[in-house]
Amino acid sequence: MPNDSCVVVGAGISGLLAARELTEAGWRVTVLDKGRGVGGRMATRRTGVAAFDHGAQFFTVRGERFEDLVDGWLQAGAAAEWSRGFADAEGNANPDGHPRYRGSEGMTSIPKHLADGLDVRTGERVVSVDRTGNGWTVACESGESVSGGALLLTAPVPQSLALAESGNYALPEGARRQLEGISYDPCLALMALLDGSSPVPHPGGVQIKGEPLDWIGDNAMKGISDRPALTIHAGPQWSRAHYDDHETDVTRALLDLAGGQLGADLVSSVVETSLARWRYSWVTSSHEEACLMASEEPPLVFCGDGFGQPKVEGAALSGLAAADGLLGCVT
Ligand SMILES: Cc1cc2nc3c(=O)[nH]c(=O)nc-3n(C[C@H](O)[C@H](O)[C@H](O)COP(=O)(O)OP(=O)(O)OC[C@H]3O[C@@H](n4cnc5c(N)ncnc54)[C@H](O)[C@@H]3O)c2cc1C
Repeated sequence: MPNDSCVVVGAGISGLLAARELTEAGWRVTVLDKGRGVGGRMATRRTGVAAFDHGAQFFTVRGERFEDLVDGWLQAGAAAEWSRGFADAEGNANPDGHPRYRGSEGMTSIPKHLADGLDVRTGERVVSVDRTGNGWTVACESGESVSGGALLLTAPVPQSLALAESGNYALPEGARRQLEGISYDPCLALMALLDGSSPVPHPGGVQIKGEPLDWIGDNAMKGISDRPALTIHAGPQWSRAHYDDHETDVTRALLDLAGGQLGADLVSSVVETSLARWRYSWVTSSHEEACLMASEEPPLVFCGDGFGQPKVEGAALSGLAAADGLLGCVT
């Protein structure tokens, strides 16, 4: 097995950026994702007449390395600026001058752009990982198996940890302890198609950052949906308390809460709803470094938004750090 090959589990922003950097360096890279499409938590759901970003809503830019990437996405038409601030919980406009970006046709525009030209296989749920020959072999639920000299695990860490320990490999105790310290909040996300005008104030988002609601956005005002289409995110405590409740109950409760927040009767203006349950949404406790190399020979690296900084920017930088680390292993 040549050591300049890598299997990447996860086609979210971290996995795709790592895969791109390794591919550009001449590595043979295979990316596997259990989802129907790429993007992970940068997720857009389309119905006939509407589109909903139901995971990440927007992203900001803090550091230069990420700024360079975002400039490229803007030039390629994969990203666009959405606003410079959103209404607060009281409904007051809150512009602070810092750009908030979106995917041009929804958040998935960016991962789709990044996946272009890569060997990305969607609909492939990895179920076990084994240490074989000079590298790693991962097996998928479909019966497919893929081998590589290096392995990069990019899923939310509890999922990556379970995969790393699913086969014949024993993770070093120190690495396991550090990985077990990374945690996430859940998020219940309601998508609601409206019949009529949107009660969300300009520019299409209310950033509550609290409980029981965290966010209400209108995907039409955002510029990605033909019809008013709300994304309502419950706060972490509310999401945890109601995570396993019946969809009908969660839907009704979130429509009532969002209606109360917006001063509108959402229940009577909604024509269609759908609920997404994100078990892992925001990171609550992260690893200090931008990635974790659990084994150098053969390389096994963990990355994603649980490492270094959080959110889309943190995940992107973590993917790049993982690729840098892998390239460092073989030079
Ligand atoms: C509701 C919500 C709101 C958010 N809002 C914002 C926001 O406004 N701004 C912001 O910056 N960030 C936001 N975030 C966080 C942001 O989406 C993430 O930080 C970022 O997208 C994480 O990228 P990642 O590559 O680390 O992980 P992911 O995007 O989670 O990618 C991991 C991938 O691994 C795949 N996978 C998992 N297990 C397997 C398996 N066994 N086999 C194959 N594939 C597998 C998954 O399908 C997924 O595609 C939000 C997240 C959520 C859920």
